[in-house]
Amino acid sequence: MKVAKFGGSSLSNATQIQKVANIIQNDPEIQFVIVSAPGKRDDKDTKVTDLLIHLFDEKVHSGSIERAKQMVLDRYSSIADELSLSKEIITHFDHVLTEYLSSITDPLRLLDALKACGEDFNAQLISEYFQSLGLDARYISPDELGIIVSDEPSNAHLLPESYDKIAEFKDDKQILIIPGFFGYSPNGNIVTFPRGGSDITGAIVARGVEADIYENFTDQSYIYAAHPGIVRKPYAIKEITYREMRELAYSGFGIFHDEALEPLYQVDIPVMVRNTNHPEIAGTKIVAQREINPNLPAIGISCDEGFTAISINKYLLNRQLGFTRKLLQIFEDYHISIEHIPTGIDDISVVVRSHQLAAPGTLDTLLKDIEEQLDPDFINVETDLAIVVIVGEEMAEVVGTANKATRALASQEINILMINQGASEISMFYTISMDDKDNAIRALYHEFFGHLHF
Ligand code: ASP
Repeated sequence: MKVAKFGGSSLSNATQIQKVANIIQNDPEIQFVIVSAPGKRDDKDTKVTDLLIHLFDEKVHSGSIERAKQMVLDRYSSIADELSLSKEIITHFDHVLTEYLSSITDPLRLLDALKACGEDFNAQLISEYFQSLGLDARYISPDELGIIVSDEPSNAHLLPESYDKIAEFKDDKQILIIPGFFGYSPNGNIVTFPRGGSDITGAIVARGVEADIYENFTDQSYIYAAHPGIVRKPYAIKEITYREMRELAYSGFGIFHDEALEPLYQVDIPVMVRNTNHPEIAGTKIVAQREINPNLPAIGISCDEGFTAISINKYLLNRQLGFTRKLLQIFEDYHISIEHIPTGIDDISVVVRSHQLAAPGTLDTLLKDIEEQLDPDFINVETDLAIVVIVGEEMAEVVGTANKATRALASQEINILMINQGASEISMFYTISMDDKDNAIRALYHEFFGHLHF
């Protein structure tokens, strides 16, 4: 039995939805379908979720909502027309939006309720279309299904009791069409996951109903060893472990939400990354363990940018009991989460995502607190950093990976600011300037995967 999730690009218009219907019709094992909101139809288009956020902004800032609301309804209207569905469903969507806009007064609650409409409306529309094709399908709301989440607007976390409720639908005879991206808090609020969170819903459902496979459909046939926009025709990964995928997703592999693997990882449900436009291609399989390929010293290279490093130097730092704890406490007091903490003998760097320091004055007061509480000899701040990551289960067993990587970066005269390797030895991080990012990825790809192209 399979759970299948379809992303926004797979549902952006009637033609794409017809492809999804074909996939479902040809695979009787798919019993649960999780849908995103309609995504972009082309590069200049806007995702429905962003149209809904725009509607929220209009409501809060100008109070005039009609145009923005119509833009949302028009997207669904054009899909409904092309699929020959009745206009009634659009009138219903209009009522729901109007009701939320007039009755929800707390802005954070309103934003979540509106954002959730993207997936919720799409699931209703798709289920009506599937029924019109004669499929035994029905829409089910996350409320009925039992997706119970914490009450943190835009940052929901699943509450563990959900799984037992979801399991009750395990043997449902109908194909259930489930909107992704949101759940309900115990006191009945609509709460969304972080952006891209329909993947999270898909994984939760797969775990709840104990699926044999979770299929995640996007517009890409594989997960590639490097970003295809940066490296031409990169190696297509056939099998990758959850741990490797987690490392790659963390550092900018956009294909899969980095929180989405967690529910599956714990119970070992394999994930297939598949392409709605090419269902004949098997895609990439994410598993707990894979065969090590002696020809490949790594599985992928990725990179994320927008980091700031705050480096503190103090003579005999290693002898000062509690220095690191006090330093980290200051970051915690500012609610800044930390990405990496490379250390030297007398220095320690704290690497954070720069947006956390963006509020006026934050960096200055943070530095002042560090000065006052720790009396360092020297503080240095470096902004506009990127972290490039090489990932592979092989690395724990193969000698010389770091050598290869540094050689490749040196060949492009790229200065490495920091190096990091976790104890698991499945990834190696290099902090570099953001300007060097693309060059670094190409150089590393060439070094690790170049031989596959000859
Ligand atoms: N529609 C939501 C977003 O654009 C969630 C998703 O597509 O996964 O972030």
